[in-house]
Amino acid sequence: VSRDTIEALGDIVGHDGLIVDPALMQPYLSDWRDRFHGRALAVVRPRSTAEVARVVEHCVAAGIAMVPQGGNTGLAAGATPVGLERAVVINTSRMRAVRNIDAAAGTIAVESGCVLSDVQAAARQAGRYFPLSLAAEGSAQIGGLISTNAGGTAVLRYGSMRALVLGLEVVLPDGSVLNGMRTLRKDNAGFDWKQWFIGAEGTLGIVTAAVLRLFPAQHTIRTALFSLPTIEDAMRAFAAVESALGELLVAAEIIPDIAVEMRARFHPSEAFPAPRDGWYLLAEATSALSGLEDQIDAVLLDIVEAGIAKGCTVANNPAQREAIWAWRETITESERRFGTSAKHDVSVPVSAVVPFVEEAGAAVAAAFPSTTVVAFGHAGDGNIHFNVVIPQQESIAAEDVNVLVHRIVAAYGGSITAEHGIGRYRRDELPAHRSEAEMSAMRALKQALDPRGLMNPGAVL
Ligand SMILES: Cc1cc2nc3c(=O)[nH]c(=O)nc-3n(C[C@H](O)[C@H](O)[C@H](O)COP(=O)(O)OP(=O)(O)OC[C@H]3O[C@@H](n4cnc5c(N)ncnc54)[C@H](O)[C@@H]3O)c2cc1C
Repeated sequence: VSRDTIEALGDIVGHDGLIVDPALMQPYLSDWRDRFHGRALAVVRPRSTAEVARVVEHCVAAGIAMVPQGGNTGLAAGATPVGLERAVVINTSRMRAVRNIDAAAGTIAVESGCVLSDVQAAARQAGRYFPLSLAAEGSAQIGGLISTNAGGTAVLRYGSMRALVLGLEVVLPDGSVLNGMRTLRKDNAGFDWKQWFIGAEGTLGIVTAAVLRLFPAQHTIRTALFSLPTIEDAMRAFAAVESALGELLVAAEIIPDIAVEMRARFHPSEAFPAPRDGWYLLAEATSALSGLEDQIDAVLLDIVEAGIAKGCTVANNPAQREAIWAWRETITESERRFGTSAKHDVSVPVSAVVPFVEEAGAAVAAAFPSTTVVAFGHAGDGNIHFNVVIPQQESIAAEDVNVLVHRIVAAYGGSITAEHGIGRYRRDELPAHRSEAEMSAMRALKQALDPRGLMNPGAVL
């Protein structure tokens, strides 16, 4: 590829938007976990949809592959140009305008480079609430969150990203712009094409803007941590809380004591906020109504009095709430100090969480006795982060552990990725978990929209 061809990208995005210096490109060429590394001719940072369209047209004419990238916090290496000879990374960080916010209608129109925490703040300022929340929210961008159909902690009530997108604007792999920035709640006119791009991991086009749903601000927030002897008790407590609190329940996370033990080893001065037991259930209930605290507490107390949970701690102020959530959100970070992890971001039907965790735990213990299983996560929607910590000195291949765990996931009718996506990390496993007909339908859509295969090649398919 000639130097002029690359320099011409600078004419489109401005020369401060084109990075060609190998040292400056580095942060854009590896994934968040620093496990995957790629190469690119340049990193291009457009400022507008029009610039994205011109960049795509230029790349197509030159036969250059394009890898869309947002905050680069993805966990499937979908935004890393691994093994590509002639590729550019198209990073949306400079497209961060809030185009419109309509508090009354409950909508916000944002460009794809808006960072999630900024969207939450904009909603708050308008007296509204944007419910998507995850540990990477200070860096993850709307385009990336849409392209991975991100989940997070509030899926139980609000659904994942797919349920929060009303309108979408996409630059297709030929450089044309598909504008569907509608704010409608109901719209059955033809195919709902925006769904093709939500969760497509940048393989079908570049998301440049979206209309998102906003919700009423929540005035009652109750966060509780139950202590329970077994995972079965934790799931029983979840079922009891869910039927008593109904739509008030926004999050339900299960945490094994081994995760608490791991964090406590490195934070000895921080007291765990509940009595120690085998498992914990973190449950959060919220409402737009204020003053529901006592009613919610009565429900929580019932669970303890019914003998399901041994104890329950309820946060009485934002600092206590944060302290409870910290024990959930730093599990992965704590694990890292004990070795490398074979990670499984799986989902099973909620009714199968207990047998799945038990069966997979026993199978891993038998096959890889030196490892430690840390299974935690969004119990309310069946998404378990089934992590297997491999001690540093062991030479166990994570892929061997993956095959074993995913076989059990499949037997329970589950999915090998509930949140993070396929990307390049799990691409070779996908055909074993989707029928030939499903794979053909996916390939047909890809072929129709990206016949030259230049949009994020090597990801997903
Ligand atoms: C600490 C931590 C916690 C996390 N917790 C969660 C969690 O709870 N739930 C969850 O679902 N995920 C979670 N993730 C994963 C990650 O944050 C999400 O996948 C997020 O959506 C990625 O957004 P991003 O902007 O960083 O995208 P990137 O990493 O830049 O890209 C992700 C994928 O989307 C594509 N893409 C990016 N932008 C665009 C665009 N504009 N148009 C088309 N394609 C695009 C990329 O090509 C890539 O395939 C977590 C990650 C970390 C590091």
